[in-house]
Amino acid sequence: MLRTISGFDRIGEENAFAVLARATALAAQGKDIINLGIGQPDFKTPAHIVEAAIKALRDGHHGYTPATGLLAAREAVVRRTLTTTGVEVSPENVIIVPGGKVTMFAAILIFGEPGAEILYPDPGFPIYRSMIEFTGATPVPVPIREENAFAFSAEETLALITPKTRLLILNSPANPTGGVTPKAEIEKLVKGLEAHPHVAIMSDEIYDVMTYDGEEHFSLLTFPSIRDRLIVLNGWSKTWAMTGWRMGWSIWPDSLYDKVRKLAVNCWSCVNAPSQYAGIAAIDGPQDDVEKMCRAFDSRRRIVVDGLNSLPGISCATPKGAFYAFPNIKQTGWPAKQLAAALLDEAGVALIGGPDFGILGEGYIRLSYANSEENILRAIERIERFLAK
Ligand code: PLP
Repeated sequence: MLRTISGFDRIGEENAFAVLARATALAAQGKDIINLGIGQPDFKTPAHIVEAAIKALRDGHHGYTPATGLLAAREAVVRRTLTTTGVEVSPENVIIVPGGKVTMFAAILIFGEPGAEILYPDPGFPIYRSMIEFTGATPVPVPIREENAFAFSAEETLALITPKTRLLILNSPANPTGGVTPKAEIEKLVKGLEAHPHVAIMSDEIYDVMTYDGEEHFSLLTFPSIRDRLIVLNGWSKTWAMTGWRMGWSIWPDSLYDKVRKLAVNCWSCVNAPSQYAGIAAIDGPQDDVEKMCRAFDSRRRIVVDGLNSLPGISCATPKGAFYAFPNIKQTGWPAKQLAAALLDEAGVALIGGPDFGILGEGYIRLSYANSEENILRAIERIERFLAK
């Protein structure tokens, strides 16, 4: 019998990938499946970005790059950060990583061990909790409530901090709820965090461009008082429709940068060179495709929310960011995961049960509206017919 570390008894998964596999298998059997499960834009990576990668390969950029990423790619991130947040960071604090997930993996590995507590949003991206459990640290859920428009509450978050807290994970605009935390709440939280200098913060800002109804995203980077313990997670996957390229970046404080650099050297060496050239082109090139995609998400968002609110037993708060709706299904009487499974098998609609995002996800389902308006309308019709049965 092989003996592996106990972390593997606790590590979790991202059920969106299991639902995608099941939806793909059903489609292969000839079933007509509408996929509102996986969180990836249904748009193609803009052509000039693809061309930049092809050119990089043709120009012979086949080798290793520095472990932290090409200086030109890190400088592109610096320019982008200045444009979106007004904050000037140094390329010496930026690392290019193979996807947004790698930043959370690194941050949680750096802080997690038995006896440590890590705060994370619930419902939230499932990998936060999974990785915390893997390290043996204690996962401390920060409740994200519908009554609070799925924003995090500064007061509730601060009340959970103890001397054992090592890391606080924040995410706005949020997966799976589409919640955006207002500036005033972030300011309140930061003020409170000033009294807890032992707590590092990882702010997952991967959906930063996707906000609606005049809602604005406020980067934690704009608060100098916590900069020496702030990690900002971001990347190319969502903004430029590049999920399969595996391209992310993060901004680290001086005291942690060498740790993540060493993780890179020990694990991924560097991100593949042509993708990094594509990443530079994405940041420096025209942003029309990004704007077009965000406008499309905005109009689909209205369709999905109106459609869901017309269904018996379902009420859907209007999401202010990302590309997810997180309707309340409590009045249908269905447990969320069972409803999600039945909708896939019997109605051909793939979506995710709320409990896959945390204990407080019961009573909700997540729909990704990164799909065509036509398919969204067909999916709503199918859900309506299913619920009427
Ligand atoms: N953070 C959040 C909140 C996400 O929803 C996702 C992907 O769904 C990621 C990070 C990971 O992104 P990537 O595909 O770049 O690893």
